[in-house]
Amino acid sequence: MSDHLDTRCIHVPHAFHEETKAVSFPIYQTATFGHIGLGQSTGFDYTREKNPTREHLEELITGLEQGVDTCAFSSGMAAVSACFELFSPGDHVVCSEDLYGGVVRLFDQVSKKNGLSFDYVDTTNPALIEAAIRDNTACLYIETPSNPMMNVTDLAECHRIAEEHGLLLIVDNTFLSPYLQNPIALGADLVVHSGSKFIAGHNDTISGFVTSRTPELAERIRLMLKTMGGALSPFDSWLVVRGLKTLALRMERQERNAHELARWLREQDAVAKVFYVGLDDHPGHAVNASQARGAGSMISFHTRTPELAKQVLEGLKLVTFAESLGGTESLITYPMVQTHPDVPVEVRERLGITETLLRFSVGIENVEDIRADLAQAFTGA
Ligand SMILES: *Cc1c(COP(=O)(O)O)cnc(C)c1O
Repeated sequence: MSDHLDTRCIHVPHAFHEETKAVSFPIYQTATFGHIGLGQSTGFDYTREKNPTREHLEELITGLEQGVDTCAFSSGMAAVSACFELFSPGDHVVCSEDLYGGVVRLFDQVSKKNGLSFDYVDTTNPALIEAAIRDNTACLYIETPSNPMMNVTDLAECHRIAEEHGLLLIVDNTFLSPYLQNPIALGADLVVHSGSKFIAGHNDTISGFVTSRTPELAERIRLMLKTMGGALSPFDSWLVVRGLKTLALRMERQERNAHELARWLREQDAVAKVFYVGLDDHPGHAVNASQARGAGSMISFHTRTPELAKQVLEGLKLVTFAESLGGTESLITYPMVQTHPDVPVEVRERLGITETLLRFSVGIENVEDIRADLAQAFTGA
């Protein structure tokens, strides 16, 4: 199999569908599969457990993330939830303080009830991670770059700490996609994705993935998929397979657009501060460059005033004011209200998730058109 990730977005090692040589993998829209005989199976019995279309997608993601196995879930949150079923009451988790809001809600409103406890720390500083570790710490959960502040955590340092203390290292790789970053190669045990973002890439499908570093972990995650039942449907699996084919092209174009727009945003009177990992003076620029192949296409920025933030959200015409990110269409989000309302206000304030913060997912449109749309929204004409 090719070592090149752009090829791996499209091809898996074995030739599929020997009989028909269909180039697009078929959608096996079936709930169940006939048995050949007593105790005999084709390998497929029931779609919640295993389905050929979903399996094809899982193999593609495994190839990209360099793990041993991937489970495809019906959403990113279903994928993260499955990971936290691996722990037992009493276990303690150290996690990035700047996390996707839905994950914070899962921890605070579900996992705590199940007996887990959490410490949110500034994981950009490895010393703070080590200081938070207790006897019962079982997991280190990292997002890098983080949502929405674009903080970068050193994954090799996390691996060193996880090894020393016997922690499971879980990395949410949604923001860079497997095309730009592979946490398992840097020592992560599990990689989670919201496939709804860059992987599917067209703002049309919700999905999630967990890729495992070892067969033992893979078996435990597969048990969760089968038992909790949040598997991705055959049709949605097919949509993600189709979207994934152009991941490399999309990432390259989106990143190029984002670089240009981040530099331009910095010069605008309406903008107070820009957070983009690709800018040389971003505090995480060097660490990101050491562990990823690019900076991605997520930009956050503060407008000078709260009124300007509102004006931009309501005044953009080409860029859509909507949740989500990573797709072909540029989207702008108001994290304080849309994605992070469940993060305690004092934490939000400390992180900088305020009424002037906007999160901008740069799409594949012509960069001149995106820039012109922002410019007209800033002037409020
Ligand atoms: C969107 C997102 C999730 C949740 O994924 P869904 O597919 O929306 O359930 C988790 N982590 C990050 C970083 C995300 O952006």
